[in-house]
Amino acid sequence: MKKKELLQSILIEQIGRSGPISLGDFISLAMTHPKYGYYVKGNPLGEEGDFITAPEISQIFGELIGAWVIDLWAKMGSPDFNFIECGPGRGTLMSDILRIGSKVPGFTERVHLRFVESSSLLRKKQEKAISSYSLGGSAKWYETVLDISVDKPCIIIGNEFIDALPIEQLKRTEQGWQQRKVDVDKGGGNKLVFCEQGVEKKLLDYLPSKTSSNEIYEVSPARDRFIKECLSVIKKHGGVCLFIDYGHTSSHHGDTLQAVKSHEYSNVLDNVGQSDITSHVDFDALSRAMSDDEDIKQEPVVTQRRFLLNLGVEYRAQVLEASVDGADAASEINSAVDRLIGIDKMGELFKVFCFHSGQNIKPFGFEGDI
Ligand code: SAH
Repeated sequence: MKKKELLQSILIEQIGRSGPISLGDFISLAMTHPKYGYYVKGNPLGEEGDFITAPEISQIFGELIGAWVIDLWAKMGSPDFNFIECGPGRGTLMSDILRIGSKVPGFTERVHLRFVESSSLLRKKQEKAISSYSLGGSAKWYETVLDISVDKPCIIIGNEFIDALPIEQLKRTEQGWQQRKVDVDKGGGNKLVFCEQGVEKKLLDYLPSKTSSNEIYEVSPARDRFIKECLSVIKKHGGVCLFIDYGHTSSHHGDTLQAVKSHEYSNVLDNVGQSDITSHVDFDALSRAMSDDEDIKQEPVVTQRRFLLNLGVEYRAQVLEASVDGADAASEINSAVDRLIGIDKMGELFKVFCFHSGQNIKPFGFEGDI
């Protein structure tokens, strides 16, 4: 049996035993099943993988995030700190940050690197990507943020991590709120299909205050929990979180669930464990998840375009262009920057979400209109 068939048969067996499974459980299994999950395979990212991310598009992305981190660290008094990255992929972002950081006296020596990563193959790639830097202590890997024993101020970052955490889809119909689940096609053929069932009551707490009938609303207890875990971590010794992802700044209805395989959209229920299943991040819902915490300050959510322009992406591009040979290399830099900040590319869809424990932490990059 092929790998994808094995995962599909595990699902079919589970559904046969206990009925349709929630969309969230389906996504979790498809993405992180320890043997057959999507992220277990080692090459989801890059041109030869299924999708490409900002750090893989240009080194400038990681360099600017690096400058941002170094500035914060300096404002915090240059302490020893737990530098935590969630979902580091191939380790490209972190290695770009450390390359910049290694030029700043004292920085890399203060870094105690902690990665949150479910894939053991990607862990190996991350280890290799950072191997040339001598850090304050050896890097460590964890399954969740909560597993990290935090004994220092923290800087937590994540690019395209939150979109990978599972969602549920709900709809208010004449029968009341319904929840989308995954079932086996009764017509035979061992095919997976969507179905609707009465909602698990606790999911209703995650909805926005106003909703319309017969529209799909996406909620995510997993993302909510993740943000709360980050809050508890930065409250121990102070700290800041920076998450960049695609999504919207006000909760609204709409089905954003998608599967991508070899840079093409595919059916979410086909190729289980072989395609990347994600959905847009509802940043409004993430803000609600921490709104009653008075010790935490949140920066305005801005677009990736605004953030990178504030961080000086255009100047960095000019300097880099001047350092490369030939018109082709310079135009490659230009088109990479356009991909990162172009309004019709990643610039507007991607948002930057930042919160911190206040005190002497004053992140820059959030000024101006989103
Ligand atoms: N930040 C990287 C990779 C983004 S892909 C980049 O921008 O290139 C998502 C990353 O999150 C992968 O490294 C994947 O293995 C990891 N991941 C996804 N779901 C996870 C989970 N539930 N727990 C831990 N890591 C997870």
